[in-house]
Amino acid sequence: MSQPNGDDPRRRIPRTDGLLVLPEFAAASERLGMKAVKAAVVGAQARARSGELAPEDVAHAALASLPDGDGPACTLRPLLNATGVVLHTNIGRAPLAAPAREATLAASGYVDVEFDIDTGRRARRGRGTLAALRAAVPAAEGALVVNNGAAALVLATTALAVATERPEIVVSRGEMVEIGDGFRLPDLIESTGARLREVGTTNRTTADDYAAAVGDRTGAVLKVHPSNFRVEGFTSAASVTQLATVCAGRVPLVVDIGSGLLAPDPLLPDEPDATTTLRDGASLVTSSGDKLLGGPQAGILLGATDVVERLRRHPLARALRVDKLALAALEATLRGGPTPTHRYLHADEAALRARTEALAAALAPHVGCEVVPAAGKVGGGGAPGFELPGWALALPESFAAALRAGDPGVVGRVEHDRTLLDLRCVEPDDEAALVDAVLAAARLA
Ligand SMILES: *Cc1c(COP(=O)(O)O)cnc(C)c1O
Repeated sequence: MSQPNGDDPRRRIPRTDGLLVLPEFAAASERLGMKAVKAAVVGAQARARSGELAPEDVAHAALASLPDGDGPACTLRPLLNATGVVLHTNIGRAPLAAPAREATLAASGYVDVEFDIDTGRRARRGRGTLAALRAAVPAAEGALVVNNGAAALVLATTALAVATERPEIVVSRGEMVEIGDGFRLPDLIESTGARLREVGTTNRTTADDYAAAVGDRTGAVLKVHPSNFRVEGFTSAASVTQLATVCAGRVPLVVDIGSGLLAPDPLLPDEPDATTTLRDGASLVTSSGDKLLGGPQAGILLGATDVVERLRRHPLARALRVDKLALAALEATLRGGPTPTHRYLHADEAALRARTEALAAALAPHVGCEVVPAAGKVGGGGAPGFELPGWALALPESFAAALRAGDPGVVGRVEHDRTLLDLRCVEPDDEAALVDAVLAAARLA
């Protein structure tokens, strides 16, 4: 190759070091690593040397050649939830509160998750999170956190039944629940090798039905909150108090409350909570972290010290253990103020209406829309049939797809040929972005 002379455009090709210190490149290095960014710069410089690219375009071309342009390194797209469904399983259930997001970020490097700063030795993993759980639920002697609610059940049934001479789990026929996407609790439990001893009928099961089934082969009695359906009419189920009497001193009573309320919520009187369930005599309560508790995906186990210890020492506990990010988010959820989940559930109807009307007023000059009453839902398989009174902005149905594809993507609800946007789960700070998203969608819809 000939040496470039004085007015050769190749002399204007920016130098690698000069580019790498620019803020855009520094940010890209942070995300993707210096090596990838350097390679992109070298590639763009080579294209400029061959005349394929103007020297002025090297910086831009290098950035554009990085994965996803200058977008994030992860393909998960943040969304605005305008569905009015608070715990929407398909878009990540509970959104984390600000303190939980900060804690997750802080825990993403090296942290003392299993390390004692004073002694420099190993310490109990997640002890801060366990202490926060016990502080939040004083009725619990012991606490354990695993990967999710399903894992909590698997661990409980394995440690209390499969690993013993007592392989049977006694459960009501009215509580053989499918939790969604084809996963059924009875199958999950039997997959551990435990045997289900079904009692009662679909609509009625009495304490006597349990008493007749509990015997030498019973590892535990399991009560499952039928969280995603309702049986109405001629129904009855044994209460936790009654079951505690049946089990007393003989076998552990495990109650899967599902949604993770730690204390009663007057808004949801039919949702069981951990405190009441333990006070009523359950030996162990299992639940999810990312439903009504409003935290990260996790399975929470609360109960009697000896039962929790049996679970903690079982080898499966290691396979189901929760990672440091979830431990951090869970602790901050427990120690922080009201979660977004709580705020969205308890949103004031009049305030929602005022916000929706303001949104309509901002959009009306550009887009045909109206404010209509619309009920929100708990979602996530919780409180079926329960409606949260609220309001929505109604747009033509064709907006739904354009809104989903926008940046940020907006997920609404299509009902009766209209796209409804419900502000219940949209933060006021995100409303300006929502207006922009609707205006952008109007150009496509
Ligand atoms: C949601 C639910 C589960 C499963 O919990 P995950 O955290 O989704 O694994 C189990 N039991 C009940 C009653 C539930 O509502």
